Amino acid sequence: MGKLYIVATPIGNLGDITLRAIEILKNVDIIAAEDTRHTLKLLNHLEISKPLISYHRHNEDVKSKVLIEKLEEGQNIALVSDAGTPGICDPGHEIIKECIEKNIEIIPIPGACAMVNALICSGLDTSEFTFLGFLPLNKKSRKEKLNEIKNAKNTIIIYEAPHKLKTTLLDLKEIIEDRKIVLAREITKIHEEFVRGKIDDIINIADNIKGEIVIMIEKNENIQNYSEDFTNISLEEHYKMYESQGLDKKEIIKKIAKDRKVSKNEIYQKFIDT
Ligand code: SAM
Repeated sequence: MGKLYIVATPIGNLGDITLRAIEILKNVDIIAAEDTRHTLKLLNHLEISKPLISYHRHNEDVKSKVLIEKLEEGQNIALVSDAGTPGICDPGHEIIKECIEKNIEIIPIPGACAMVNALICSGLDTSEFTFLGFLPLNKKSRKEKLNEIKNAKNTIIIYEAPHKLKTTLLDLKEIIEDRKIVLAREITKIHEEFVRGKIDDIINIADNIKGEIVIMIEKNENIQNYSEDFTNISLEEHYKMYESQGLDKKEIIKKIAKDRKVSKNEIYQKFIDT
């Protein structure tokens, strides 16, 4: 049985590839790449010549099967994406799930990842954070995510495409009040820059911000930290906690029942009685 190596590649500066990643790319039988032409440039730079198979978002299902067959034949495969760590807003999840099912060994080869490097230089709290990837475009799901950001008790990290930056900042303006915001732009590249400030200041300059961007938002200090033992708070406080997160009555009752390990009916009844 072959092994699947998940190999991180640079996010801009070609120097950010590890010795181990180079070793693995030299020694595997096949490299599965999100965009073979893009990866070829990296391989040429490293003077590595290997068979490449394309493995991207639109062929993950089919190509996972092909790759599994090759792994079962005993071939070792390295999976790479265009930049950074595969699986982080990049293809990888399907083949990894299938390998787990087939008992095929998966080995991480660590390296660059935009969100980690953005966070560590942001100046925001790094002890707890939530990575949301790209915000959904679908209106309802986007609203739910924005609500999550509004009530976040830890630092929020999101990825954004440059041409959507201003729209996203305007959406964030509606919910984050005076919380700090940090943009990490073009990390490891010539124009690398960290822009820190309040949302209005950043919106004013958004049209001039070009390149790849990570947006980070300070945690909401005003959200009460309720204990997980919900029996310590009154039913009304419990209700208000979820109401402030933008949930509707039906969802709130469902969540309260789950937290308190009682039936939904019991909670409905209590609200009718009061
Ligand atoms: N797998 C990658 C990783 O490990 O970070 C992320 C790939 S995702 C398709 C691309 C997004 O990552 C960009 O839209 C941007 O938000 C972020 N990104 C990637 N490279 C970056 C860089 N050099 N500087 C800032 N953000 C970057």
